[in-house]
Amino acid sequence: DRVLTGFSEATSVAVADHLREQDVVLHLDAGVERLEGDAGEVETIVSTDERVNVDMVLLGTGVRPRTALAEDAGIELGPTGAIATDAYRETNVPAVYAAGDCAEATHVVTGEPDYVPLALTANRHGRAVGQTVTGTPTEGGGVAGTAAVKAFEVEAARTGVIDHETARDAGFDPVTETVTAKSRAGYYPEGGDVTITITADRDSGRVLGASLVSEYGEGAVHRSHAVVSALEERATVFDLENYDLAYAPPFNTTWDPVLVAAKVLGGKLRDS
Ligand SMILES: Cc1cc2nc3c(=O)[nH]c(=O)nc-3n(C[C@H](O)[C@H](O)[C@H](O)COP(=O)(O)OP(=O)(O)OC[C@H]3O[C@@H](n4cnc5c(N)ncnc54)[C@H](O)[C@@H]3O)c2cc1C
Repeated sequence: DRVLTGFSEATSVAVADHLREQDVVLHLDAGVERLEGDAGEVETIVSTDERVNVDMVLLGTGVRPRTALAEDAGIELGPTGAIATDAYRETNVPAVYAAGDCAEATHVVTGEPDYVPLALTANRHGRAVGQTVTGTPTEGGGVAGTAAVKAFEVEAARTGVIDHETARDAGFDPVTETVTAKSRAGYYPEGGDVTITITADRDSGRVLGASLVSEYGEGAVHRSHAVVSALEERATVFDLENYDLAYAPPFNTTWDPVLVAAKVLGGKLRDS
């Protein structure tokens, strides 16, 4: 019942508010029951709440791997329902590899198989398989669930594990903090807020994930990459707080918002 459910609630609220400012009407609690139309053209969406007359319908219903071909060939699926592979993308059938939207991959935070069907993973794993089968065994890395979106004049990114239930299932004790900081030095023209929700493990301080939102061009997406680095190297919020990020007034404050978020969450962990 919110937009961008894979992002933090703060990100969802910011994006939803912006959509409404653009006169987008959100029907967050309604479920689509059917589409009605005439002569091959959709005219009405019938939802659990109401009937809405429309000119056009765009469906976004998620992604599922089509695995029948693989299953018929005796290739095993993993717990996500996508094809299971080892770190080199080799399936249970020797010399048969699976990469991209048909296959699962190991999540860098949970260490568990996950299904994140996105382009970089497909590309990287495809290249890795090419190298492996031509004599240079190459793993191609895991997935952090990093994703970005632009909606009118806001941008948002998410990476890692934000959801507490998922974090607990993976054996962590998640603590989350949401921080809003300025995207540029206060005296510098323009700029805006960057809101960062960051989650870490209480005991170890290990960064588990983050969700960021800003005006378009104010750096939420590029800032998420510092968090991705922290996830990849299993860094703590105390490590992240000390990352030597660039600073200059047109781009951030002396303490970049990511560093501020890590510092605030680190303080919360120290106090807990
Ligand atoms: C609308 C949309 C927007 C997206 N935006 C982003 C984005 O912004 N960022 C991002 O990271 N990812 C994005 N993605 C996801 C990204 O496109 C996929 O993760 C990526 O293309 C997967 O690559 P792939 O090679 O595994 O599969 P595909 O690109 O789907 O390629 C599979 C190919 O196999 C062919 N094929 C299927 N069955 C057979 C068969 N039986 N015989 C022969 N050929 C067959 C298909 O025709 C297709 O050409 C988006 C996807 C969609 C649909």
